[in-house]
Amino acid sequence: MKTYDIGIVGAGPGGIACALQAQKHGLSFFIIEKGSRIFQGIIDSYPKGKKVYATIPKSETGPFPIEALAPAPDKPPVEEYIDTIEALAAKRGIAVQFNEDFESMRKDRDAFVVATGNGHYRARAVVLAFGSNIPVDLGVYGEAKTIARKLDNVQDHIGFSTLVIGGGNAAADVVAALSRAKRDADDETPVYWSNRMEHFEINTDVARDLGEEILLGGHIRILQGALPRIGEVDEDGVDRLTILTQEIDAGCGVILKQAMSFPMKHVIACIGTQGPAPIFSQIGLQQITCTEGVCRIGREGAQLVILSPDFQTSIRGIYAIGGAVSPVYIEIQEEGSFKERKHTNLIYTAVKDAVRAVDHIAARLSA
Ligand SMILES: Cc1cc2nc3c(=O)[nH]c(=O)nc-3n(C[C@H](O)[C@H](O)[C@H](O)COP(=O)(O)OP(=O)(O)OC[C@H]3O[C@@H](n4cnc5c(N)ncnc54)[C@H](O)[C@@H]3O)c2cc1C
Repeated sequence: MKTYDIGIVGAGPGGIACALQAQKHGLSFFIIEKGSRIFQGIIDSYPKGKKVYATIPKSETGPFPIEALAPAPDKPPVEEYIDTIEALAAKRGIAVQFNEDFESMRKDRDAFVVATGNGHYRARAVVLAFGSNIPVDLGVYGEAKTIARKLDNVQDHIGFSTLVIGGGNAAADVVAALSRAKRDADDETPVYWSNRMEHFEINTDVARDLGEEILLGGHIRILQGALPRIGEVDEDGVDRLTILTQEIDAGCGVILKQAMSFPMKHVIACIGTQGPAPIFSQIGLQQITCTEGVCRIGREGAQLVILSPDFQTSIRGIYAIGGAVSPVYIEIQEEGSFKERKHTNLIYTAVKDAVRAVDHIAARLSA
């Protein structure tokens, strides 16, 4: 079996950035992808036609670490952005092994053997760039399994009120896309946008688009502090989600509750994903479980992977980057102390992590 310098798992922005950076250092690599296209994770999760922003987190100064991977400043639709990346990969001769689902990994002397459903690959270092694709649980009483996690077909919602749950960029994008489509179809039914918190956390680019949509007459109704509560089948056999929109203390122990109920097929929950903790555990990577007093940023119960400043995990030679380590991980500092690090899930971040990890691998292999 051939031994490569680097094994890359996932052909998203992080994985492709690793491949380009490996080429720059003259390192050999393989890249496996469970889907059938480059950027499959993005293809699977973005609404059709969504504009892709080259957002740089506030804590960073830029520029984009690999310029060729930055979405163009005119915010191309996702399909155009992917075409550009595929053309770039073809031009640079990046051969992705498609339909290869990472299953496990074991140490084999001075290298690692990565197993997929179809075979084995061997590399001196491995970068886990498989994104974060385990949806956060909606946490409602009853069943809510049929609720979509992304906007699959905008036409399915024309003529029906739709509820979008979530307070971040992904939810805002879906709200804007749905509202735009309804406006184009002269459909007056509203898009309800709910968040369990009072505040919505979206970046400037997304806010600008959403503001434009509202000014153009989009029917968007905001439900702040609204909690999804019950998933149930009604007497007509329709799966419905009940969302609590208001609670008023009427005194003497009486609480007035106001709720709305939506057919689940018109509910989209963009409430984020969590890191692939079970896969990290299976590989044997050290993680810390957030409990009260331990984490300031991480959710209670979340498992946070431990990484060096170069994104090396607790196993020397294995790195984890991008969405896979978002939205928060634990950084082990040089003097051995731990620091909780917020890690915004953006294309920029994944690319920046990749460059840092591959530079570190290159330095180690040449030492
Ligand atoms: C709706 C939405 C809109 C967004 N809009 C923007 C935006 O406008 N600008 C921006 O900067 N960011 C945006 N983001 C975030 C951005 O897409 C992510 O930060 C980025 O894709 C992370 O890159 P990644 O390479 O770490 O992971 P991913 O893009 O998730 O790539 C991981 C790849 O690994 C593959 N994979 C997964 N598991 C396996 C396995 N077991 N074996 C092999 N391959 C596997 C996946 O198929 C995927 O192709 C958005 C996210 C969402 C959900």
